[in-house]
Amino acid sequence: MKNVLITGAAGFLGSHLCDRFIKEGFHVIGMDNFITGDKKNISHLEGNDNFQFIEHDVTEFVKIEGELDYILHFASPASPIDYLKIPIQTLKVGSLGTHNLLGLAKAKGARILIASTSEIYGDPLVHPQTESYYGNVNTIGPRGVYDEAKRFQESITMAYHRFHGLETRIVRIFNTYGPRMRLNDGRVIPAFMGQALRGEDLTIFGDGSQTRSFCYVDDQVEGIYNLLFSDYVEPVNIGNPHEISIKDFAEEIIKLTGTKQKVVYKDLPIDDPMQRQPDIALAKKILNWEPKVTREEGLKITFNYFKTLSANELLKREHKDFKNHIRK
Ligand code: NAD
Ligand code: UDP
Repeated sequence: MKNVLITGAAGFLGSHLCDRFIKEGFHVIGMDNFITGDKKNISHLEGNDNFQFIEHDVTEFVKIEGELDYILHFASPASPIDYLKIPIQTLKVGSLGTHNLLGLAKAKGARILIASTSEIYGDPLVHPQTESYYGNVNTIGPRGVYDEAKRFQESITMAYHRFHGLETRIVRIFNTYGPRMRLNDGRVIPAFMGQALRGEDLTIFGDGSQTRSFCYVDDQVEGIYNLLFSDYVEPVNIGNPHEISIKDFAEEIIKLTGTKQKVVYKDLPIDDPMQRQPDIALAKKILNWEPKVTREEGLKITFNYFKTLSANELLKREHKDFKNHIRK
């Protein structure tokens, strides 16, 4: 049985990856420090012989006993609200954390896949975004802590590949959604759905003309799985190219949820990208992959998930308490 270490296992994408690898017959070691994740995302795996969990902060030396065949590094705050609240941890997990995991991969002779992001394109001047575009990032802006950590992550990963001959893969993930997102993480889908469920107005940032392209989690996991087992080393975009403006998206959510509320307009956050759409020609060609789940289907499943949350969770409006993770 092959062993795979998945960091960020208690998070949204990490927990779905744990499920997929267990289903495919792997022994999965999940690792997380719960800074933005939640135990309940992996509670269904408790007692499963093919799953082991280690609570650990990957910015500290990572020790794993025995053999390791694959590493998927998904630990990192991922929502703008989260990484603005914990900027130093965000920089550290992308840099020190990635360095530790590359070192572990080298020691074990494991293949490692790194979760990068469309944010490395910044506020893109090229549309749609192809892998050959170098990006337009404000290094010192508030989002820079995430964008630059991810850019460094790609850079050190390629250096380990070139210098040490390490087997590496890099996925550039575009906005992905689905069950197990944190309702109050501030990302637009949980934000709008939470507002609809609480009977609040939907908050559009800016004039809503900015665009995003939303990918359902099962499609994303399939793309990542195919990439890990491909022989392609350079970054690959994985996302759904169906682009929509945030204003039109709010209307879609109003229709889907049946909320009687209206939209209200708030300030646009600094450096909020104006348009984002993946060019997925490369993934289609080398991975024979493309998304299958329509936005209508994916949003329905996601809304049904949020409807199952307790009233308590629904009303919990404040973001996660990050204080435990700040060293005195
Ligand atoms: P998430 O916040 O749900 O999951 C991240 C997980 O990493 C959490 O469980 C958190 O506790 C854990 N973590 C953070 N720092 C850690 C540390 N130092 N040590 C151990 N664990 C730590 O976010 P997500 O949406 O599941 O994102 C997962 C990965 O995918 C991230 O690397 C993110 O940058 C990338 N990504 C996600 C999206 C998306 O749309 N969901 C888009 C682009 C990139
Ligand atoms: N957004 C919004 N209202 C909200 C939350 C987000 O209009 O309550 C906008 C946000 O400004 C951005 C888009 O929705 O333009 C997607 O935001 P998200 O935080 O999901 O991810 P991003 O793609 O910016 O990382």
